[in-house]
Amino acid sequence: MLRFQAHCHASALRNLLSYSTVTKVEKPLEKVYYTKLFINNEWHNAVSGKTFPTVDPSTGTIITQVAEADKADVDLAVETAKRAFKLGSPWRCMDASQRGQLLSRLADLIERDRVYLASLETLDNGKPFSTSYNMDVGETIKVYRYFAGFADKWHGKTIPMDGNYFCYTRHEPVGVCGQIIPWNFPLVMQSWKLAPALATGNTVVMKVAEQTPLSALYIASLIKEAGFPPGVVNILTGYGPTAGAAITRHMDVDKVAFTGSTRVGRLIQQASGESNLKRVTLELGGKSPCIVLEDADLDQAVKQCHEALFFNMGQCCSAGSRTYVAESIYNEFLERTVEKAKARRVGDPFHLETEHGPQIDQKHFNNILDHIQSGKKEGAKLMCGGERYGDEGFFIKPTVFADVQDNMRIAKEEIFGPVQSVFKFRKIEEVIERANNSKYGLAAGIFTRDLDKAMQFTQALQVGSVWVNTYNIVGCQTPFGGYKESGNGRELGEDGLKAYTEVKCVRIKIPQKNS
Ligand code: ADP
Repeated sequence: MLRFQAHCHASALRNLLSYSTVTKVEKPLEKVYYTKLFINNEWHNAVSGKTFPTVDPSTGTIITQVAEADKADVDLAVETAKRAFKLGSPWRCMDASQRGQLLSRLADLIERDRVYLASLETLDNGKPFSTSYNMDVGETIKVYRYFAGFADKWHGKTIPMDGNYFCYTRHEPVGVCGQIIPWNFPLVMQSWKLAPALATGNTVVMKVAEQTPLSALYIASLIKEAGFPPGVVNILTGYGPTAGAAITRHMDVDKVAFTGSTRVGRLIQQASGESNLKRVTLELGGKSPCIVLEDADLDQAVKQCHEALFFNMGQCCSAGSRTYVAESIYNEFLERTVEKAKARRVGDPFHLETEHGPQIDQKHFNNILDHIQSGKKEGAKLMCGGERYGDEGFFIKPTVFADVQDNMRIAKEEIFGPVQSVFKFRKIEEVIERANNSKYGLAAGIFTRDLDKAMQFTQALQVGSVWVNTYNIVGCQTPFGGYKESGNGRELGEDGLKAYTEVKCVRIKIPQKNS
């Protein structure tokens, strides 16, 4: 389970790593092997020859330069993916079970290189090593294994249609899939997109986030090592408005799967409409409520609401960023919540005891501080944090605002940072309405010991995921996605396969004696 792994204690991690005396893991600065574009199982410079820097968010210094893809590189990658998808190609002729074996082999290779991949992820993204190792790489391995098993099990039906016909459906791959992923969970997001696409026989052109290109390129090398035929997976590093937009507008891309901001989600849907009506699935923003009822286990509720927001430095689409607390327990809840935020261990993400690293980059850091300013200005009560931590990198202290009102900016906009907003409510009907009064509909948490009340909430909340007495538990077996402006389509679980296959219906006339 995501939660258990994410917060596995440092001493347990040391045992896993067999370094009983280690308190800190080394930065893999000398060991960044791949910085070019991965097309047709080969490494290429960008056609333009351009590169861009990727930065260590814990210091603000450049790690290395990476090839900067643009439209010309996208054209090459799509052409390659299209060739690999052609009927009769090695990939199209491959048994479904063999596709599953390749995915399993990829999972094994990731497991082999788990420590290295986790350290690369922490270097490029800034998340604590213990989270990278336990949660990110652990979850990534599970996702590839889960979908590996589905490769020869995602099949159609025979249908008893009226008349003398033999009727069956086939689940066929959609074709060339453009996949655009964000920086908050680079390895995990890559697996959520690649694994179902490959299990169902598609080919892929993926653009990874410009802030975190390194782990995805290393996975590309493992894809080649696992034995995937050339052209099946192509990984591009570059910016959104150039390389990303070129994918969304390409006439030979049959589907786009995107995770990122609602703003860019709109552009992607538009680009589909203006090009070839490619299929679009979107996993976008959120402003998810955590609702704590009077009868909740207070200790647990405080802990869970804290993690719901601060996990991954608040950089989580499903972050529980609106904490609604029943009036009768509000003061005590608030006091304990502030204590917890103050105690969160912020610091060097390579230190095994660290719980909280830097934000992803300067732009995002500024944006979070701007939201904090607006909270203060609009009259919310700053209880702790509210400023940068240390004097290098993009660290922000865990921040709690009390007495937040629904019309404030911090109550409505997705901050994507370590800012917990605590609201007070009186009645259940009132809080349901306030929780649903958002353009987003990704997730919600409800904390109560009363099953009837829990059921009332699970039905009334307009969101894709509801957690009861827990939060942020996502398994590869369970569908994840949003209502309203949080996107469309689902990833993971059996539902996650739907977007990667077309359903073809075949109706065959059965000859009758007298016809
Ligand atoms: P964030 O604000 O969290 O960085 P974005 O939605 O901007 O989220 O980015 C998520 C992904 O979308 C990244 O890979 C980014 O490069 C890409 N992207 C940004 N703008 C565009 C665009 N106009 N078209 C396609 N992809 C884009």
